[in-house]
Amino acid sequence: MRSPIPDYLTQVLDTCAPDSGELAEYIPELAAVDPDRFALSLVTAEGDAYSVGDHQDAFTIQSISKPFVYGLALETLGFEAVLDHVGVEPSGEAFSEISLERNTGRPLNPMINAGALATHALVASTPPADSGVERILKLLSSLAGRELDIDEKVARSELDNGYRNLALANLLRSYDVFTGDPRAVVEGYVRQCAVRVTTADLGMMAATLASGGVQPHTGEQIFSRPVVRQVLSVMATCGMYDAAGDWLTTIGIPAKSGVSGGIIGILPGQLGIAVFSPRLDPHGTSARGVEVCERLSRDMNLHLMDAPMVAHSVLRRRREFGDGDTAVTLLVLQGDLQFTNVETIVRDLIDEPIVTPRLVLDLALVRSVFPAGSRVLLEMVRRLHLDGIEVMFIDPEEHFPDPEVGGGYRPVVLESIGELPMDLQWRRGLPG
Ligand code: GLU
Repeated sequence: MRSPIPDYLTQVLDTCAPDSGELAEYIPELAAVDPDRFALSLVTAEGDAYSVGDHQDAFTIQSISKPFVYGLALETLGFEAVLDHVGVEPSGEAFSEISLERNTGRPLNPMINAGALATHALVASTPPADSGVERILKLLSSLAGRELDIDEKVARSELDNGYRNLALANLLRSYDVFTGDPRAVVEGYVRQCAVRVTTADLGMMAATLASGGVQPHTGEQIFSRPVVRQVLSVMATCGMYDAAGDWLTTIGIPAKSGVSGGIIGILPGQLGIAVFSPRLDPHGTSARGVEVCERLSRDMNLHLMDAPMVAHSVLRRRREFGDGDTAVTLLVLQGDLQFTNVETIVRDLIDEPIVTPRLVLDLALVRSVFPAGSRVLLEMVRRLHLDGIEVMFIDPEEHFPDPEVGGGYRPVVLESIGELPMDLQWRRGLPG
């Protein structure tokens, strides 16, 4: 069978209105590109990639580099040091506005140019000296899963006309947001923006954020989970500059645009999207890119606030086997154990108490256990034990390698149902 997904994506591109908008003329090299190029890439968190249109064509990443370099700064310097220099509040203003905190001069967020210059300066100032851009290039390459390079012609073209960014950098320097030479910071930042990518690369980079920082093809953990959460939060509130509220309410996913015409969007845990079309709307965002994202969000229910009801999906089965002393209740759990869905199990056990002397919790189909889910589950086990019930875990994935639940009680942990004691006759006939 041929997958219907590329056909659907091609249809999305075909049905988008002929492009309106303007090329980014303040960077002469960007004003010289073919304005009709159009590409779309969708990559799942597992790494299945679907790309259509001009997805192999290269263009400069521009502001889409900002969230990734912000992630690099958080990883290298830690949250506190970064937050001391760059805030996380939406500015509600255009990307190149002087959106600085009164008195301190701290840029409002890392997605606007002032914040991105400060973030770049932070990364560039960490040793080894003078290798900031190389480290950024290496990071972006590992996110894309291939070696990227810098379009020096675009960088030069931006630098030759970069009066505004130079003014911003000088202002930041005057507030001591960074120390060092403002011109060197602008030069480094402009080269960061000139890293050459394809739409397919951007799709992979977005998918890395969707999969909790793990590059889906190489398996490399590039960002830690707390960093991914921070980056996506800032993208959701500030990524689309003065259109951030409009974007979040209508399209509803963290996103970042760039003046060369790219947009990335991330649906956490599910997929990354990248679109490319160079003509821009008045916010400096790809006009057709916005249209594509609106269409995908509508068709595919991507809006984050349309979250699926997860609470009832973890208890797959409850059954009782055997009688008397050897009777067992079996609870088969599945999916992700978060607070809300473990709470439903607790409630079920209160409404319908366990009447057998043993309880087997089968976790073989559980994918992940979140800390609050784990705490509630273990406390539930402790209380069941106090009620005289012996609890056993089937835990081949080792979600609970050593489940000390308090009071010195440790439930038995087994690899499979086949390892249950032989006196539990009910297990005959069940898959081992
Ligand atoms: N290099 C561009 C600038 O600083 C990036 C702006 C953008 O892509 O939004 O003006």
